[in-house]
Amino acid sequence: MKLHTKIFIGLIAGTAAGSLLAMLDAGAVAAYVKPLGDIFIQLLKMIAIPLIAVSIMGATAGFADLKKLGRVGLKAVAFFLASMILAVSLGIVAANLFQPGKSLDAAKKEAIQAGIRSEGRWQHPAHAPATVARTSAAEFLLALIPTNPFAALASGDMLPVITFSMLLGLAFTLIAPTKRDKVLELLDALNDALVALVKGVMRLAPYAVFALITAVIAQFGFHFLLALLEYALVTVGTMAFFLFAYYGLAVALLGGISPLFFFRRLSSVGLLAFSTSSSNAVLPENMVSCEQKLGMDRGVVSFVLPLGATINMSGTSIYQGVSAVFIAQVFGVTLSLQQQVLVVLTATLAAVGTAGIPGIGIVTLSMVLGSAGIPLEGIGLIIGVERILDMCRTVLNVMGDSATALIVDRSEKRRERRRSWV
Ligand code: ASP
Repeated sequence: MKLHTKIFIGLIAGTAAGSLLAMLDAGAVAAYVKPLGDIFIQLLKMIAIPLIAVSIMGATAGFADLKKLGRVGLKAVAFFLASMILAVSLGIVAANLFQPGKSLDAAKKEAIQAGIRSEGRWQHPAHAPATVARTSAAEFLLALIPTNPFAALASGDMLPVITFSMLLGLAFTLIAPTKRDKVLELLDALNDALVALVKGVMRLAPYAVFALITAVIAQFGFHFLLALLEYALVTVGTMAFFLFAYYGLAVALLGGISPLFFFRRLSSVGLLAFSTSSSNAVLPENMVSCEQKLGMDRGVVSFVLPLGATINMSGTSIYQGVSAVFIAQVFGVTLSLQQQVLVVLTATLAAVGTAGIPGIGIVTLSMVLGSAGIPLEGIGLIIGVERILDMCRTVLNVMGDSATALIVDRSEKRRERRRSWV
C-alpha cells in the first residue's frame, strides 16, 4: 500500500478514535497514544538543521556553474527569490485576512495552550518571562552572523546556520577544482543519506498521524477539525491564485505565450507533481516537456530547472506563510509586523533549503516557527492535512520552475535577436 494511502487511513482512523474518546468523555486516554506522534515530530526536528546546512552548502558550492552561465543563472535566481518572497507575503496576508485559526473559540484555544503548557514545552508570551527582543536592524543583521557556527547548529538557530552554510559553500568554489569536486560529492552523499533518513522517518507517519489526530480530537473535539479545514482551504486557495494570477501573468507578459497554452502543455508535469509530491521526481519529465512542447533552449532548461527544483519553492513558501500565522493564531501568539517580516525572510530561506522531495516543507517549517517564537508543537496540529498540502504545493513549486525557465529562455532569445540586428 502507498504511504500516502496509509497516512490517509491513519487520519480517518484517528478521527474516528478521537471522536469516540471525545464522546465517551475519555480524552485523557489520548495521552497514552500521543507519544508516538511526539517521537515522529522530534525525529523530523532532528533532521531539519543538518538537512538545511548540507543542502545550502551543496547548492552554493555548485555555484561555479553559475559563473559559466552567469546571466541566465542570475536572472533565474532573481526571479526565484522575488517569487518566493511574494509567495510567503501573500500566504501571510491571506492567513491574516481569512483568519483560519480564529474560528476556534477562546476556550478551545486556551485548552490547547494549557495542554502544551502543562507539558512544560511552551509558554504563551503573556505567561512567559520577558525575552530580549531584537530591536534595531543592525542588531538583526548582526544576529545573522554566528560568532560560533557550531553553537548556532547546536541551538538550531536557522539564520546564522544559513549564513555560515552559504559562505562556506561559496568558499568551496574558490578551492582547487579537484578538491571542490570531492567536497561536492561528499555533500551530495550526505544529502542523499539525510533524505533516506527522512524517508525512513516518514514510514512512521501513518501511525503518528493516527496518534496526533486521535489526541487532538479527543481533547478538543470537532471544532479543531473545522479550523484545520479552513486552514487547508486558505492554503490551497492562495496557491491556486498564485499559480494562475502570478505565474499566468508572468508567462503572458514576460514569456509571450498564452497561460492557457502553457498550463495545457505542462498538464502531465502538473499531474505528476501532484501525485509524487516531489519536484525532483518530476524534473526529467519537466525538462523534456519544456524543451519539446514549449520550444525552450536546452541549455536554459538543463540549468534553470534543476536549480529551480532545488531552490525555488513558491508553493512551499505560501504553505509556510499560512501555516506560521495559523499556528500563531491557534496558540494566541500575536505576531508583530517585525515578526511577520522575519517569517517572510526565514520562510523564503527555509523554502530555498527545502529539498524537492515529499514532506520536507513541514520539516523546514519547524525552523520558521522557531525563529518567530511560535510553538513547534503546532506542527502536530497541521500534520493531518500535510499530505494533501504537499501534493498541491509541489504543483506550484514545479510550475514555478517551468514558468521561470520560459521567462529566462524568452528573454535570452530576445537578446540574441537584438544582437543579430546590430
Ligand atoms: N514536496 C515539495 C517538493 O518536492 C517540497 C516540500 O515538502 O515542500 O517540491
